[in-house]
Amino acid sequence: MRVHEHTFDAIVVGAGGSGLMAAVYLARQGDVRTAVLSKLYPTRSHTGTAQGGIGAALGNMGEEDHWEWHMFDTVKGSDYLGDQDAIEVMCRESPEVVYELEHMGLPFSRNEEGRIAQRRFGGHTSNYGEAPVRRACYAADRTGHMILQTLYQQSIKNDVQFFDEYQVVDLLIEGGACRGAVALNIATGELHVFRCKALVLATGGYGQVWEITSNAVTLTGDGMFLVARRGVPLEDMEFYQFHPTGIRGMGILITEGVRGEGGILRNHEGERFMERYAPNLKDLASRDVVSRAIYKEIRAGRGIDGKRFVHLDATQLGAEVIETKLPEIADFCRTYLGIDPVTEPIPVQPTAHYAMGGIPTNVNGAVVGMHGEPIRGLYAIGECACVSVHGANRLGTNSLVDLVVFGRRAGLAMADYCRHADLESAGDDPAGPAREELERLWSTAGSDGENAAEIRREMKQVMMDNVSVFRTEELLQEGLAKIAALRERADRIAIDDRSQGFNLDLTDAWETKGMLELAHIMTFCALNRTESRGAHSREDYPDRDDENWLKHTLAVPRDGSIEIGYKPVSITRFEPKERVY
Ligand SMILES: Cc1cc2nc3c(=O)[nH]c(=O)nc-3n(C[C@H](O)[C@H](O)[C@H](O)COP(=O)(O)OP(=O)(O)OC[C@H]3O[C@@H](n4cnc5c(N)ncnc54)[C@H](O)[C@@H]3O)c2cc1C
Repeated sequence: MRVHEHTFDAIVVGAGGSGLMAAVYLARQGDVRTAVLSKLYPTRSHTGTAQGGIGAALGNMGEEDHWEWHMFDTVKGSDYLGDQDAIEVMCRESPEVVYELEHMGLPFSRNEEGRIAQRRFGGHTSNYGEAPVRRACYAADRTGHMILQTLYQQSIKNDVQFFDEYQVVDLLIEGGACRGAVALNIATGELHVFRCKALVLATGGYGQVWEITSNAVTLTGDGMFLVARRGVPLEDMEFYQFHPTGIRGMGILITEGVRGEGGILRNHEGERFMERYAPNLKDLASRDVVSRAIYKEIRAGRGIDGKRFVHLDATQLGAEVIETKLPEIADFCRTYLGIDPVTEPIPVQPTAHYAMGGIPTNVNGAVVGMHGEPIRGLYAIGECACVSVHGANRLGTNSLVDLVVFGRRAGLAMADYCRHADLESAGDDPAGPAREELERLWSTAGSDGENAAEIRREMKQVMMDNVSVFRTEELLQEGLAKIAALRERADRIAIDDRSQGFNLDLTDAWETKGMLELAHIMTFCALNRTESRGAHSREDYPDRDDENWLKHTLAVPRDGSIEIGYKPVSITRFEPKERVY
């Protein structure tokens, strides 16, 4: 296998909203040679699918709004696990960054005065929880698409060098410093070593670990398991958000907007069951509450025809509302289900959606180790990172804010770091471990080996059955045992495709092994946390336990098991209060 070498000052791994924002800021400095490596063509990144909006307290709609109110909502939404110093940074800087996106050319929707239009979204309120407020800035129902296109154009304008369809398969982390990465050029099957002073991971989430997911097939958590393998811990991995309304069997997202417009969830008996679970907010209760209620209905045998889904009924909205306000959703129903939401209910079930946990960082995106020590030259941003602004549960529209606020900060911090740091040696054969790993996968003969797709299918099922909306010790123990058996089988995965270029059999197998490591860590952490908080719901420990568990989990693989550590939550303004749903 031929190995190519490249040297840059800064490397960005991932070309979603967070990676591109960091790249633009690095490149604008003029003196920091920057490259972006992405396993996808940049504008195919998952950020492009975000519809709802980006939260910023602009107060453009004739209502008062303040970043402090946004901060309060985010802290409360996080079930008090979010770090308040980081949340303050995010909410305070978000208006400025949204205006900056506007000035870059992002075509936001406008209100009558020509200002950026804003709409309501779950959990966003005025005056510390008093009433809903219009805080979500949007570009029709294509906000993420517009962010991605705008930032890509800015990257090209600023001469960022792109390596498209290069999959990073190893990180050069040694002696407490990151010296670069090893990537597979998917088109040729050759390895490339990228040496640099500073590297930022912006590789997105890992929703593909579950069977039913809103996440694209490429969201396999590569950045997370790459750092974990190199001994850097992951933070709060037990917290994973399930969105209540994914299309049955497929998981494709049906936006909260359908219920916002008046859509109603019904069980097999046609009952509006949310009235029983959340008498005040009903169908617009928080995502965790609605997901749990749907599962309870299914368990009680009241899923449609006794099956694992319920109905989202939008028929009462009428054709005009559906066609004008929810055109994308109507299109999804017609394309994927062959049904018309104007006349028929939409079959839905909770879908794996967003990772609150990830690679631990400070507010400049710098990665920190188990004992708070910095890993020199290593940064992480976006969904793969854990700053932590979302704590135990993320509010809608807060991921897009997180991407651009911390993408910008990391870009600036890295540029500064690159000016003072030297390029450190990456050793004699930096591609060695990656080459060995890929060759091992490659050399297992077809008939003796295990099939990666089959292992992936079984993993997704286990995670769905044992580590999803409801958890108990018994379920999690069983899940751990099953994941352990799958990990053992994964050592014998065989590759059928023998081609060099575009060998997706090989990359799928490699990703499957990585996802099993994440599944292991997340299940272990879920078993370890004996309380219920935000998205982590333990039926055997139904209460939040601030005395013992108001702390972040850190977890790193060690000798076949997981080593656990903790770090305190930053509480600066808002003391934890009774859990309110
Ligand atoms: C359907 C859907 C709707 C959503 N709607 C909203 C919304 O309305 N508002 C909101 O705030 N949030 C929303 N979210 C969440 C939000 O969109 C994501 O959390 C966010 O876009 C993630 O951005 P990112 O920059 O972290 O990574 P992504 O946009 O996921 O991009 C990941 C990048 O990493 C690259 N990559 C991954 N692995 C490798 C590797 N090994 N080597 C090289 N490159 C690699 C990929 O090529 C890609 O460029 C939504 C999510 C989904 C799935």
